[in-house]
Amino acid sequence: MTRAISLRDVTKIYPRDVVAVNRLSLDIAPGEFLVLLGPSGCGKTTVLRMIAGLEDITSGELLLDGELANGIPPGQRGLAMVFQHYALYPNMTGEQNMSFPLKIESPGRDTTAQVRETARLLGIEELLDRFPAQLSGGERQRVAMGRAIVRRPSAFLLDEPLSNLDAKLRTRLRAEIATLTRHLGVTTVYVTHDQAEAMSLGDRVAVLRDGVIQQVSAAREVYQRPENVFVAAFVGTPRINLLRATVHAPLDGRLNIDFGTQRIQLPQPLSPDHQMLRVQMGREITVGLRSEAARIAGPQEMRPTEALLNGVVQHVEFQGHESLVHVSTGARPARVEGLESPRPPTRGGSRAARRARGANPLRQLVGRVLG
Ligand code: ATP
Repeated sequence: MTRAISLRDVTKIYPRDVVAVNRLSLDIAPGEFLVLLGPSGCGKTTVLRMIAGLEDITSGELLLDGELANGIPPGQRGLAMVFQHYALYPNMTGEQNMSFPLKIESPGRDTTAQVRETARLLGIEELLDRFPAQLSGGERQRVAMGRAIVRRPSAFLLDEPLSNLDAKLRTRLRAEIATLTRHLGVTTVYVTHDQAEAMSLGDRVAVLRDGVIQQVSAAREVYQRPENVFVAAFVGTPRINLLRATVHAPLDGRLNIDFGTQRIQLPQPLSPDHQMLRVQMGREITVGLRSEAARIAGPQEMRPTEALLNGVVQHVEFQGHESLVHVSTGARPARVEGLESPRPPTRGGSRAARRARGANPLRQLVGRVLG
């Protein structure tokens, strides 16, 4: 059994008028994996704790499978929560820790089979006899996961469960969590401030800022079509280039985008994405340019959908499978970052000429006007 979780216009105000969550509405479908993503203090944990029943809702409604659940005690919601800190009982073995929720439910019951089956699912059978002090961080978090799923909850609430682990283990465990929750088909709400983790895990990602939802979309959509500058800047590594520009329409009717000392012309006809630029005429806009949308090229190498920004390569960061190229341009801010494959740009012109140019695929460059 898996649950639909809905929040309707939910607000949480802590003492001293701290508004942690502000009129938040969200529908999470049964079996869905939703990631709540945002910077520290934006209200992610508060949302999770309200769903769990560990925090009162100041106003608004929480619905579980369509039923009002604001007043249901935490233990009766059928949800399991895993915290950042493993919160295992230090004086109990892995097995005792995992069987604890079952024993609370029905004291005296033989829990061995259920605990063993869950341990098998997580690949932690060999950890059952050990105490938490004898486990590594990753192993403790696996046991904590085991304790959460042993009761076969109807939803998981995971609060930064991997943040105490090293980078390699995080990557491995997050893949395990994704596989496990999908295998169990259980609704999962996963809180993180790590955008890479959010992108790799969620069916959908809800981006929060100051207790307000900024965007709820598929991870790919959040990355490629951010709703605003905050989302664009928060998601993606390297950080998106945000360039100030103005839109102009000279006499020939083709739109120009003016980056201070440089100007690019949009191809005709305008794509649906670019149509909205017409209403921005004469206004200052922010153009978001992802690094991978820029490449180093010269005028003779341009494709029809591209535009050229001239610049000087300032610095190249070698990153193994690609290099991050810092280019100074006349745009504001002056520095643009682009990614390149390892092969240096060898076609055409002297080395000095190659250094002096930077080109951007126009479709990407003006794909989204952010504000
Ligand atoms: P983090 O990623 O750092 O855990 P978060 O996004 O989970 O942050 P919350 O812990 O939900 O954020 O906190 C949201 C806001 O509410 C913050 O401004 C925080 O200081 C405040 N807050 C949280 N708990 C309480 C509390 N018990 N009393 C008063 N204010 C609180």
